[in-house]
Amino acid sequence: MTRLFGTNGIRGIVNKTITTQFVCKIAQCLSTIFPAGSTLLIGTDGRSSGPMLKMAAIAGLNSVGINVYDVGFAPTPAIQFAVTDLKVDGAVIITASHNPPEFNGIKIIAGDGVEIPREKEELIEEKYEDKSLELVSWTEVGSTTTRYIIDTYIDAILKHVDIKSIKARRFTAVVDPGNGVGGLTTPLLLSRLGFKVITVNGQLDGTFPGRFPEPTPENLAQLGSVVKAYNADFGVAHDGDADRAIFVDEQGRVVWGDQTFALVARHVLAENPGGKIVTPIASGSIIKDVVKEAGGEIIWTKVGSVIVSRKLIEVDGVLGGEENGGIFYPPMQPVRDGAMTTALIAQILAKNGSPLSHHLKSLPQYFIAKAGVPCPHDKKTKFLSVLIKRTSDLERNTLDGVKIFYTDGSVLIRPSGTEPKIRCFAEATTEAKAEKYLEYGMNIINKCLREVGGIHVDESD
Ligand code: MG
Repeated sequence: MTRLFGTNGIRGIVNKTITTQFVCKIAQCLSTIFPAGSTLLIGTDGRSSGPMLKMAAIAGLNSVGINVYDVGFAPTPAIQFAVTDLKVDGAVIITASHNPPEFNGIKIIAGDGVEIPREKEELIEEKYEDKSLELVSWTEVGSTTTRYIIDTYIDAILKHVDIKSIKARRFTAVVDPGNGVGGLTTPLLLSRLGFKVITVNGQLDGTFPGRFPEPTPENLAQLGSVVKAYNADFGVAHDGDADRAIFVDEQGRVVWGDQTFALVARHVLAENPGGKIVTPIASGSIIKDVVKEAGGEIIWTKVGSVIVSRKLIEVDGVLGGEENGGIFYPPMQPVRDGAMTTALIAQILAKNGSPLSHHLKSLPQYFIAKAGVPCPHDKKTKFLSVLIKRTSDLERNTLDGVKIFYTDGSVLIRPSGTEPKIRCFAEATTEAKAEKYLEYGMNIINKCLREVGGIHVDESD
């Protein structure tokens, strides 16, 4: 069977793999999980191909009897929130998140606002292979109407922060949505919190002329300099569909996602003592240390935002997070939400009055070292079982690859999901220690590869 779904939906290059015919057919295959008479939302990120692919999807959905509320351009978390708010059966989101402009894709959302689980993706894939797709009779063709969802989404976020205390600070922020749909929500949200808002790359433009849609430190130099030029309290950047938020402090320095996550975790645990914090095993020790110090419980998961969301629901977690700037705040919704994250950071800054850089200084500091070794895809499973056996006497976690914990750091060894490689990430409280732990990790990898057999070991990345 052809596997169509990746970690976050279906992705590909527009008019190559992601064609109108393909999107229409996938939409028709959704009848296998959403029967005729269901109602789904449909919305897009700001990509140029969004409206074209959305119309193809609507045609497909209506042809199998599914009714559609078209919400237009909107951030992924705004659409996810609207699913539960409007009590519809789910949503189709046309987005390729942080991928370059030539890409687009499809995310399917279940009735609880979270992306559908793998079992349901498989049902869609089966239906796609199966040639017997049934269309409904003309009397049962689905309807399409439009809905505006942005204001109710912002109203909902505002219920989770103390508007008065934030307003009193008269903050200034620079918002860089990277010409994506975050520009439709975050500036508006911050204005309603009394901020003076400056935007860069604020206009919606599917060619992403300002910067690439992935908010990496290299892509945020402009944001940093605008923050400094305006003496702003912070800057915030989103990815293409605004489910992630990356901040820069008042000195224009990029704050990586695990630091933001740690700050929010400390804040949430102060209000929810003993709460459960859910995060993938790939997250840094900074989060482990902060959660422990704040008296919370950390729950590790495999890597993947849908896995974090589902685990949060299962264990009734108070917060979830990923090192890439994805923060899940269940009182709003158990999914990554860039605007909600921004409101939480505003709340943290309003609470004690010191600048963002001071908050960051209070966090544990870790240094990172990483490397990769080639390994053919077909040897990865064997490699992993040898690795698990060889590390059995160490303090380790085998949820996703092997993570070995030391008192002042860790090493994560993980076969790459997409490339023929084994990756090794080390971290420690000093740079020298991080290099040393990387060496330990690489030693283990090389021993395991030798045991798996027939692999040329090259220590370059
Ligand atoms: Mg995204």
